[in-house]
Amino acid sequence: MPVVPLKDILQPAFASRYGVGAFNIVDDLTMMAILDAATEAKSPVIIQVSVKTVKMWGAALLQKSFAEFAGSRPIPATLHLDHCPDVNVIKTCLEAGWNSALFDASNLAYEDNLRQTKEVVAFAHKLGAGVEGELEAVRGVEDDVGSGLEGELVPTEKCLEFIDATGIECFAPAIGTAHGVYEKEPKINFDRVKEITSLRSIPIVLHGGTGLSNETFRKLIQNGCAKVNISTKLKITFADGFRTYLEKKPTEYDPLKLLRSVHADVKKMAMEFMETFGSAGKA
Ligand SMILES: [Zn+2]
Repeated sequence: MPVVPLKDILQPAFASRYGVGAFNIVDDLTMMAILDAATEAKSPVIIQVSVKTVKMWGAALLQKSFAEFAGSRPIPATLHLDHCPDVNVIKTCLEAGWNSALFDASNLAYEDNLRQTKEVVAFAHKLGAGVEGELEAVRGVEDDVGSGLEGELVPTEKCLEFIDATGIECFAPAIGTAHGVYEKEPKINFDRVKEITSLRSIPIVLHGGTGLSNETFRKLIQNGCAKVNISTKLKITFADGFRTYLEKKPTEYDPLKLLRSVHADVKKMAMEFMETFGSAGKA
């Protein structure tokens, strides 16, 4: 069971209260490293891509690479587009065979977000794809999307109405986490996750996973966060992987050795998260 829809990965995770890492890959090396980590950890996995990365490599090439790399593995994997405010980019990806997308209309007024998300869901479902919905902006800029401010909290009953009316596969509420690196310990709104999942059986998405403590991860996953986004940590591991290798071997000119070393670093990072999130051994 190699490439599967997002919901096939999230529903069992939500039911059994483990989290599945959604790792923002930046190229084929990192995509392969994350898939290798999942294979070795026997973990389901979400290959997540930012719009910026789609613009770098193209939606079709990324999907083809994913199908080739993930297609023959004994673990479920899915290809997901991260924060995308542009419906046309979502359509391009889904038409190219991507499995799901986060339609980020968090800068729109509630009614507009609701209406547009419904349209995106209808489009996605026709292709057998899924949608992550978001009402409030997650604090922090990630790959040129977002702002330093957290969106104003939407009342719970409006969140429930949004979930019911749109038919999204998973929901990303603002819960005090942020994109990027935390400068101080974030105040996490555990109760908001608990409240929403006690009223609706919908997997919650945790944005801004980099830098949270294992205890915070466990508590949020216990409350219903089934998709855990890791972007910043992958970028740091990737860049540091090159830097430390080249500092150690400044006159070695064997690109494949260098790439294998970075691959190993990224894979190790992902496997550690898979253990922490409880998804290891679940595939
Ligand atoms: Zn995010």
